[in-house]
Amino acid sequence: SHNNLNAKLVLLGDMGAGKSSLVLRFVKGQFLEFQESTIGAAFFSQTLSVNNATVKLEIWDTAGQERYHSLAPMYYRGAAAAIIVYDISNADSFTRAKKWVQELQKQGNPNMVMALAGNKCDLEEKRNVSAEEARAYAEENRLFFMETSAKTAVNVNAMFYEIAKRLPSA
Ligand code: GDP
Ligand code: MG
Repeated sequence: SHNNLNAKLVLLGDMGAGKSSLVLRFVKGQFLEFQESTIGAAFFSQTLSVNNATVKLEIWDTAGQERYHSLAPMYYRGAAAAIIVYDISNADSFTRAKKWVQELQKQGNPNMVMALAGNKCDLEEKRNVSAEEARAYAEENRLFFMETSAKTAVNVNAMFYEIAKRLPSA
């Protein structure tokens, strides 16, 4: 049988972690060294074929939640999936990612597919968060984990496909 599925996906994480860059890489195959800051939220859609299903991802790239945290639930409400992004060269961004995970566990859709993305994995010489630590955290919290690079494209498509595959009935 063939299913068509629409799924809302939200990206959350510290400013500068690379949320917009991951989306730009995935949707347009591009990378900008000086990605403009997102204002509010940006919306993209991308259709994938997985497991005999067509999944249309409705992607919400958020910004400003650092300052206007109360807006965040508006973005993750009704989301089937979330990518929580941190920057492997920035330990504070990993701490912040864990806070997002806690918030989604408490307030989000209980069946939400959650992925943890350790972005900027091209910056190995500046690494401040070990992959082992992040993987252990992800396993404890039943998140899907990948290190990604929006710059080199490593694991970017793979991450979005893996999320699409894990959606209920995809
Ligand atoms: P956002 O605030 O989370 O949306 O982050 P942006 O996508 O705006 O990225 C912040 C900065 O990090 C920009 O200068 C990007 O070019 C840079 N950046 C994003 N992803 C990567 C990556 O994978 N590797 C490297 N080296 N830089 C990245
Ligand atoms: Mg952004």
